[in-house]
Amino acid sequence: MKSPPFCTNPLCTQHTPKVVKKRKKKKLPTFHKHGTRSTLAFGLVQRFCCVLCGTTCSSQSFSLDFYAKKVISYNDLQNLMVTSSSIRAIGRILSCSPASVLNRTMRLSRQCAAIDAEILSQVALDENLVIDGFESYVESKYHPNNINIAAGSDSSFIYATTYTQLNRKGRMTDAQKSKAAALKETEHITPEPTVTPVQFLCAQLSPLIASKPDTTTISSDLHHSYPQPIRELGSQVVHIQTSSHDPRSKENPLAPVNYADREFRKDLCEHGRKTICYGKNVNNQMDRFITYTFWHNYVKQYRINDPKEKYHLRHYDQAGIDNELVNRARVKMYTKRRFFSHIQEKLSWFHRVWWVRLLQNPEASSKMYVPKFLTSF
Ligand SMILES: [Zn+2]
Repeated sequence: MKSPPFCTNPLCTQHTPKVVKKRKKKKLPTFHKHGTRSTLAFGLVQRFCCVLCGTTCSSQSFSLDFYAKKVISYNDLQNLMVTSSSIRAIGRILSCSPASVLNRTMRLSRQCAAIDAEILSQVALDENLVIDGFESYVESKYHPNNINIAAGSDSSFIYATTYTQLNRKGRMTDAQKSKAAALKETEHITPEPTVTPVQFLCAQLSPLIASKPDTTTISSDLHHSYPQPIRELGSQVVHIQTSSHDPRSKENPLAPVNYADREFRKDLCEHGRKTICYGKNVNNQMDRFITYTFWHNYVKQYRINDPKEKYHLRHYDQAGIDNELVNRARVKMYTKRRFFSHIQEKLSWFHRVWWVRLLQNPEASSKMYVPKFLTSF
């Protein structure tokens, strides 16, 4: 790297790449070289200093492997993750520790969220929507959760995601009841939320619905949490509710989310029935889920049984999203780090909270690790 594309200090004028380009055009100074640093993984790394604020950075600051000590293929990591491989199995195949797998997944999932937000901020919705809560759990079956999703009714493209922590429901033995009561005492006591997860989901959908010229139909099951937030979206939205006990056929209005649910159970080992590879940390679980939805939307073939001439189709093609736009947004996705400060305005509230790992684990004793590369710039 001859010169940094921008200053890493979010308060500096040169934090905007366009400003740096303009200054270079006017032949004004932007950065000067500030020595080198020798690394085992990346060789000699050039350091730079911003002429406006004096913040120093290196060529590694703009790499997805910022702070990393070993090169691991993100493409291989993504391919293994979406084929139901466990963390330890991925570590064994990629010759790294489970902690390194989690660390790289953390980086990759934020790239996926940033690229997805970049694309969705530039598209107009061209279909109706279906929303649903995908049931799973984290830490133990005493802590079930719902990962709320909104999918396109024709394309099964996943437009929005949020997370809800639930209490264990259903029949329990006396021993299970007393364990549930003991675990409840150790839980984080959070104030009653003023905004529900479905409202957060609707907030993500709101700009997309506004971009659609005609009425949008949102289908959901009969759960009581849906009508109010959907009504708040305005008169251009029609809400249809269908029982989740109806036959899971192609004609069912909930077919896109039923299809997505099956794919999650099949492709992500932690969501499989009777799995032993359950999620231990809510933030890590969402890292994997967001990486998966990106792969589902932009990489996976639309239908495996399609004729040969349709092999190139992906879910985003079916959603009417321009191929050029997707290719442009995905440039260097495995190497060029997307900065939170550059993308945060396009991210939803839920994704901002998740980005800095503020989703709370149900058990208070669980440690929350926030790596430096997420919070430093
Ligand atoms: Zn600066």
